[in-house]
Amino acid sequence: MKPLQEIYSVLNNPKKVSIVMHQKPDADALGSSLALSLFLKDLGHTVSVISPTNWADWLQWMPGCKEILNYESQQENADKILDEIDWLFCLDFNTLSRTKRMENKLAKISCTKFLIDHHQQPDVAAFNYGNSDVNKSSTSEMVYDFITASGYSNKITKEIAECIYAGVVADTGSFRFSSTSASVHHLVAELKNKGLEHMDVHNNLYDNFLENRMRFIGHVLLNRMEIFYEYNTVLLTVPKSDLIKYRIKTGDTEGLVNYPQSIQGIKFVAIVIDRDEERKWSFRSKKDFDCNSFARKYFEGGGHFNAAGGRSSDALEKTVAVFTTALQENKHLLL
Ligand code: 5GP
Ligand code: MN
Repeated sequence: MKPLQEIYSVLNNPKKVSIVMHQKPDADALGSSLALSLFLKDLGHTVSVISPTNWADWLQWMPGCKEILNYESQQENADKILDEIDWLFCLDFNTLSRTKRMENKLAKISCTKFLIDHHQQPDVAAFNYGNSDVNKSSTSEMVYDFITASGYSNKITKEIAECIYAGVVADTGSFRFSSTSASVHHLVAELKNKGLEHMDVHNNLYDNFLENRMRFIGHVLLNRMEIFYEYNTVLLTVPKSDLIKYRIKTGDTEGLVNYPQSIQGIKFVAIVIDRDEERKWSFRSKKDFDCNSFARKYFEGGGHFNAAGGRSSDALEKTVAVFTTALQENKHLLL
């Protein structure tokens, strides 16, 4: 994978471009993709943004979100576009398998492939050019860097600023995580100069849910939370019946894993959600417990040092048993 800066000089030659992100995209995946899309369109490219799956309704406010193609429901149309493109940008994921059913198609097409991502252990062989930097707060920050480093900071509009800011806020836990470098704060200052209304973005991200989600969170924290004080760990186990009872949709469980981190002394939080096709795990840690290694070793996953995810095809009880055994094995790292 060659450095992305090698394409700066040809950025203003109009191309057919697609941008894809990981399945069930979050605010950073969508924010970075939409910001890049708006920027490339302004440079004269023909751009389509394709998501492997659907996304949360409460992210629908993001500029350009309504034009994103959902590969699950619009595969034929998306495949036709992918067959024609010159450039493919892959944002906020490190291996093509994170695009679920798009994986084979993306591997097969012969266009030039670019990676912009901040996850650990990227599959660099799958991309021609790219920037992969685990020290970056978010892929949205990396898109900002791409736009400015290529000499086009004058092209950052208020809409692009909103998309980038949403991704940065989401992936830094509102400027809380250690990845929040001085350059992140500089970036925010620059976005404010471009007309960013930061309160609107916060309202859209965090005060934009329906009643059922709030009641669901209360229920899970009261009835589905187990605290392992001997391991400084909290586990949230969400059975399918809860998802049905509270009419939980894509994105409604996001953020739930953060609540137990406010309990004194807790170092590691895990949540497992009994989805139709798999049991989906999310992990969060503080300081020196490595969620990425844990997710890779026990749950076919990965991500960042302090935030990762994984999956299991075992039944809920079985995968929880695997987790508790894994806790015992990692006891020395959790004290
Ligand atoms: P979340 O827990 O919010 O779904 O994800 C936390 C981080 O881990 C995100 O950066 C996400 O991209 C990554 N991640 C989540 N699930 C998986 C997975 O199954 N495999 C890999 N490699 N990364 C994941
Ligand atoms: Mn991200």
